[in-house]
Amino acid sequence: MTGGVLREVEPIRLSTLTTLRTGGTPERMLEAATATELVEALREVWARGDDWLVLGGGSNLFVGDQPFDGTVIRVLTHGIEELPSPHEGRVRLRVQAGHGWDDLVAYAVERGYAGLEAMSGIPGTVGASPVQNIGAYGQEIQETLVEVELIDEATGAVSVVPAADLGLGFRTSVLKHHYGGVPARRAVILSVTVDLLVAGERVVRGDQLRRALGLTGDEPVPLAWVRERILATRASKGMLLDDDDPDTHGVGSFFQNAIVPEAVARSLPPECPRWPVAPDLDAVTVIPLSSYQGLVPAARTEAPDVKVSAAWLIEHAGIRKGFGLPRSRASVSTKHALALTNRGGATAAEVSELARFIQSRVHAEFGLVLQPEPVLLGVEL
Ligand SMILES: Cc1cc2nc3c(=O)[nH]c(=O)nc-3n(C[C@H](O)[C@H](O)[C@H](O)COP(=O)(O)OP(=O)(O)OC[C@H]3O[C@@H](n4cnc5c(N)ncnc54)[C@H](O)[C@@H]3O)c2cc1C
Repeated sequence: MTGGVLREVEPIRLSTLTTLRTGGTPERMLEAATATELVEALREVWARGDDWLVLGGGSNLFVGDQPFDGTVIRVLTHGIEELPSPHEGRVRLRVQAGHGWDDLVAYAVERGYAGLEAMSGIPGTVGASPVQNIGAYGQEIQETLVEVELIDEATGAVSVVPAADLGLGFRTSVLKHHYGGVPARRAVILSVTVDLLVAGERVVRGDQLRRALGLTGDEPVPLAWVRERILATRASKGMLLDDDDPDTHGVGSFFQNAIVPEAVARSLPPECPRWPVAPDLDAVTVIPLSSYQGLVPAARTEAPDVKVSAAWLIEHAGIRKGFGLPRSRASVSTKHALALTNRGGATAAEVSELARFIQSRVHAEFGLVLQPEPVLLGVEL
């Protein structure tokens, strides 16, 4: 790390820094272009006891229109370092938190490093990628993530934390600020290390990705081809950031696919798409020797949870693509039922009103409450 100084800048409206284009002006704004500046900025803000928000690409944030009474720290660090992997035929990349996620994917694909290509085109920064364990077409960051370097608010200490300690799950981690709660671990990622296969081309496994790519055989395909196909598919769904396409002025999926007990899934119409969720198995049961009586408890036999398509629930609750409430400048994307978009000048209140309307329609029709995926700041649903 090189030496840095605190870079305080004139605060600007968060609507200009978030992809949903909502959000008032914060009281204070700092920028950090190096990891040292980021650490210094955080320690200063924490010492002052200010409310704070770390901002990457602003593509997973739904911010209210009232001024944020705290400090926003913009993560503008960048850089990729190549390191040897302890595993043969693989390579490690250590990437600064503010580096553009898709720039990292492009870098890896160009060099024939496999493991990120299906996540081409996801907006935002590398530092935010473990926060909600980003994923697309069946590939998630947790498959290649080795460790992160982070700084904890509780201690102000910088440490290297293995991926296994981040509580990574479906669009979640211990670092994510879920609606209605605080993260289990208040910390900021400084860098991310991934371990990738040096391949150039690979046999694509996983039904979701094979379907998206239109693959039927088992022949290996070039990573660059996978990337190209994914980018084209995402563009057709409004899932690639594009200033000229208002369908991309959102946060991607606004609602999460619902994870429900099997019995609830059974009560939904059979046409509703669903996928099994791997059960959270207790891999090792430790029985203290003092209490061991020659019996090993039976393995759990509960039915695994089921993930059901939120897009299907929305459309079958009567909300079509492009739907908007009267006189509202927020609407459902014309290409994707899960994306709520700002059609130009929509306030956070307009987006919230639309989100609540959709939640109430789905609840009335199917009895499920859809949960928002983005981090909410100064807004309530
Ligand atoms: C068009 C579109 C398509 C999308 N498609 C997908 C998709 O396919 N899959 C998917 O998973 N997501 C998708 N997203 C959501 C979003 O791109 C990801 O969640 C992304 O990782 C957010 O990165 P960001 O830098 O923009 O985070 P921000 O929005 O800036 O921040 C999100 C949260 O992470 C925190 N954060 C940011 N940086 C750090 C850091 N360094 N350390 C700790 N916390 C941090 C913030 O404080 C905030 O709480 C999409 C979004 C859009 C707009």
